[in-house]
Amino acid sequence: MPAPAHPASAAVAVGGIDLGGTKIEAIVTDASYKVLGGARHPTPTTGGPADVANAMAAALTEAAKAASLEPSQLRGIGVGSPGTVDAAAGTVSRADNLPGWYASFPLAAALQSALGTKIALGNDVSVATNAEFVLGAGRPYRSLLGVFWGTGVGGGLILDGQPWHGRGGAGEIGHTVIVQDGRHCPCGRRGCVEAYAGRAAMEARARKLHAGGTKTKLFELATEHHRDRLTSGIWERALEHGDKLATKLIDRAVSALGAGIASAVNLLDVEAVIIGGGLGVRFGEPYRVRIAAAMAPHLFLDSRPPAVHVAALGDLGGALGAALLVER
Ligand SMILES: [Zn+2]
Repeated sequence: MPAPAHPASAAVAVGGIDLGGTKIEAIVTDASYKVLGGARHPTPTTGGPADVANAMAAALTEAAKAASLEPSQLRGIGVGSPGTVDAAAGTVSRADNLPGWYASFPLAAALQSALGTKIALGNDVSVATNAEFVLGAGRPYRSLLGVFWGTGVGGGLILDGQPWHGRGGAGEIGHTVIVQDGRHCPCGRRGCVEAYAGRAAMEARARKLHAGGTKTKLFELATEHHRDRLTSGIWERALEHGDKLATKLIDRAVSALGAGIASAVNLLDVEAVIIGGGLGVRFGEPYRVRIAAAMAPHLFLDSRPPAVHVAALGDLGGALGAALLVER
């Protein structure tokens, strides 16, 4: 077996995999979470959990190679996964955005046998929130709410320095009800924040209005840029073009986020709110300001609003948070 190129780092290097609905982000870091190598692969759209696990192993192997390491030399690999994660059992079930993943699948065991080192599982949004708390925009605070504004609207909580999972399902800011009997949410209920602000829900709304005759450049732009979905980039371009429908839907999303986040702050009085996710990171600073302004009228203690930041780790937050799981 050839000696590793960086023998000193091999003993302490860790891996992190962020399993998303569209992409798998894998990284290898040193002990201070500096990225030594990374790889990004598309998430399989067909097959089942075993195929997704194979794609994850391939991405991590490529990331390790970029760091001149073998996966088996890593101290461990953390995985941030969507769906219902049982960290102790090493299983994931009901990952609705992944192909054929309804029943419980032993993801930790599958990856451990493919990669030859121990695997730690966590929920994707809670690990990304923890990454911002330990390494990113949340470092100055003891309590914070992470809001991941993307396909859905995910949330994670740090209370008094500790991740708060409740009975396993805490942090669902996206399913905070802001309109009773309001718009249909992808979760099957009505009036949730995500029904107004989630990328998938906004796309469904835009399609319906467009089919009913409302003019918009959104779908032309998607075709032009070879996208079968209205990605964050397509929404951004439509806004730049002054598209009326896109502007209206995004304005509604911002006001929904403001009401939902302010309600969570009224309950928990966290010191800071960190805005991440595909839309949150892409829209960045101007939307941080807009969301903070949309929160203001709903804050009970309006004389001392929480700090609001854009996620500092950007797209890598999920993979870095996964790598942090190895330490725990
Ligand atoms: Zn919902």
